[in-house]
Amino acid sequence: MIEQTDVFVIGGGPAGLAAAIAARNKGFGVVVADGTQWPIEKACGEGLMPETVTALRRLGVNLDADDGHVMRGVRFIARGSEVEARFPVECGIGMRRVALHAKLVEHAKSCGVKLLWNMPVVGISRDGVTLAGETRTEGRFVRARWIVGADGIGSRVRSWAGLDTTTQRDCRYAVRWHYRMRPWSDVLEVHWGERAQAYVTPVGADEVCVATLSKHRGMNKAALADEFPELARRLVGAELTGRERGAVTMMQSFRHVQRGNIALVGDASGSVDAITGEGLSLGFRQAMALADALKRGDLSGYEAAHRRMARRPALMGKLMLVLDGRAWLRERAIRAMARDARVFERLLEVHVGTKSRAHLAVTGAMLGWRLVGA
Ligand SMILES: Cc1cc2nc3c(=O)[nH]c(=O)nc-3n(C[C@H](O)[C@H](O)[C@H](O)COP(=O)(O)OP(=O)(O)OC[C@H]3O[C@@H](n4cnc5c(N)ncnc54)[C@H](O)[C@@H]3O)c2cc1C
Repeated sequence: MIEQTDVFVIGGGPAGLAAAIAARNKGFGVVVADGTQWPIEKACGEGLMPETVTALRRLGVNLDADDGHVMRGVRFIARGSEVEARFPVECGIGMRRVALHAKLVEHAKSCGVKLLWNMPVVGISRDGVTLAGETRTEGRFVRARWIVGADGIGSRVRSWAGLDTTTQRDCRYAVRWHYRMRPWSDVLEVHWGERAQAYVTPVGADEVCVATLSKHRGMNKAALADEFPELARRLVGAELTGRERGAVTMMQSFRHVQRGNIALVGDASGSVDAITGEGLSLGFRQAMALADALKRGDLSGYEAAHRRMARRPALMGKLMLVLDGRAWLRERAIRAMARDARVFERLLEVHVGTKSRAHLAVTGAMLGWRLVGA
């Protein structure tokens, strides 16, 4: 029976486990509680961008191509044109979400993190957290010096802590499938349709993940065929593995991500649209910044670091949503980039962080010039 700990992490998803590992690496005693059982499955595009793989390595979690499928770059496909760029330095990895979760759990255990599954947290106070008990009045209290809310996009910790003041919220709907088939490509494909995007990730030697993202609900398999006939033709005859899963994805940010001894991490602390493929990387990098702040005993530095880290993915997310909403611009932009792939290469370099956001202005000017002739 655990009665007290240095750090209590609420939520054992990727960000919560990363926060636990990072805090443990700084010498803290850490407990994680999740309301479900591991390994946790969740609708995800399952693309780990190069900086996600790097962040995992910094946490001590090493991945290689055998954990999934190597991902060498990104391809945009729109009506009649396509453009591709390779990642500038390192490759990414397409990997089943459950496999990533299992890997994080194993690493957390080996570091000495205490893990409580099927154990929802039902309340927090300055001194600790209350875990659900057999009955409503039987909740178990665990004292904690620090409390970390890693309970996902609809975080209750965020509202319990009074941190729920959004500065922005933009919601889309996602549906995800897995197909048993040899991947036809070693890049992450984004198919742009009229009302949606389909995000295709190779996740194993004989498995492909397909996720649709749309402002409209109901992007089911029939809609997939209507919206992306070329992609649907590739998938004909492939066996569906596992079940279809839905989710919401949000561009969401909050005025504050910490108060007193409570901090938020991962989607609980704000999120970017799934089209960016940046959610996991952000959560892992926030986890390390949070552990530094815990070590200093001051969470205000975490909030500043969190804000800095969110800027580039938020900007890229907004750009993608502009393309989502304006067919004429999207088609011209992709056609223009197809004629000069350097523009797309630069965009990808900014996206994965090997070039600064300042390069975006130059890339924008290059694209504008190409658009004139597209
Ligand atoms: C369709 C889709 C595709 C995506 N594709 C990608 C991609 O390709 N690449 C990428 O990097 N990112 C992607 N993302 C984003 C990524 O999935 C998220 O950023 C990531 O899951 C956030 O992890 P998290 O740990 O913060 O939250 P979650 O994974 O949501 O975990 C939160 C955990 O908290 C637990 N919990 C909640 N309440 C309580 C409670 N009261 N007590 C105890 N436990 C609780 C839940 O059970 C859950 O396990 C995608 C997202 C979507 C929706």
